[in-house]
Amino acid sequence: MMMKLADLHIHTHYSDSTSPPEEVIEQAHQNGLNCIAITDHDTIDGINPTRQAAEKYNIEVITGVELSAEKNGRDVHILGYLFDHSSKKFLTQLEIMQETRVTRMAQMIEKLKKFGVNNIELKEVCDLAKSKSVGRPHLALLLKEKGWVADLKVAFDKYLAEGAAAYVPKFKLATEDAIKLIHNAGGVAVLAHPMVMNMDEIISPLVKEGLDGLEVYYTNTTETVINFYKGLAEKHNILMTGGSDAHGKAKKNTFVGKVKIPYELVEAMKNYKEKRNHV
Ligand code: AMP
Ligand code: ZN
Ligand code: FE
Ligand code: FE
Repeated sequence: MMMKLADLHIHTHYSDSTSPPEEVIEQAHQNGLNCIAITDHDTIDGINPTRQAAEKYNIEVITGVELSAEKNGRDVHILGYLFDHSSKKFLTQLEIMQETRVTRMAQMIEKLKKFGVNNIELKEVCDLAKSKSVGRPHLALLLKEKGWVADLKVAFDKYLAEGAAAYVPKFKLATEDAIKLIHNAGGVAVLAHPMVMNMDEIISPLVKEGLDGLEVYYTNTTETVINFYKGLAEKHNILMTGGSDAHGKAKKNTFVGKVKIPYELVEAMKNYKEKRNHV
């Protein structure tokens, strides 16, 4: 029997990827994936449509999300998996996060006006995301389309990066609350892409807050770095996951299936969850 493979970090156009569910599924099929997780930023609206699209190829779509959180004043992305995506409490919290994203976008558009950028409407930015999880990548795209910047990098450097002219911070959950929220919905909480964050010192505290796993496999990560995070996961006796962080055309260096992990890691996550939820 062929080894089953998974990619557990994929975005759709329900947040800031350009890919609709159908495109994600076609790529997953072409690249030989048996299981994927849709992990959109602060929304789970993409899960059901992706499940529908996946029926064609019998690809398993587990529930996922990437929550915007913070620890010690720094951005932390917490991945949630295998939670009940009809949980009321969970949905209510996501709605709050989306509302604050829309308000924040209006503030950024206002700030841009001070720099002469006067032809961007809130509605057209929001229309770029199929949910209310609107973010800076959407605004960057419009700045480029309307000729205010040459490319997306300039959009961030000049206007949108942290500390830049039109930057407004977004609401983030304390990591502890993000982890609790996922646990309350029966899911497992995983620290996203630790290798790109340069803040390994927060891993121990997060484990104390209840963190269940580390995203050990990630796009453009060397064997040495993978082994380093494997070692940390083993030391803390927590799960290991991995994924591509595909964003369609919005992120050039990755795609669905760029990172493939053995399905055993999904099974380990399911077993761990069952054990924990039944004690
Ligand atoms: P938001 O959630 O609205 O704050 O947007 C965060 C997203 O913007 C990140 O996930 C990145 O994809 C993108 N981003 C953040 N900083 C930069 C940057 N300096 N250059 C390009 N993209 C960035
Ligand atoms: Zn993103
Ligand atoms: Fe992330
Ligand atoms: Fe991501």
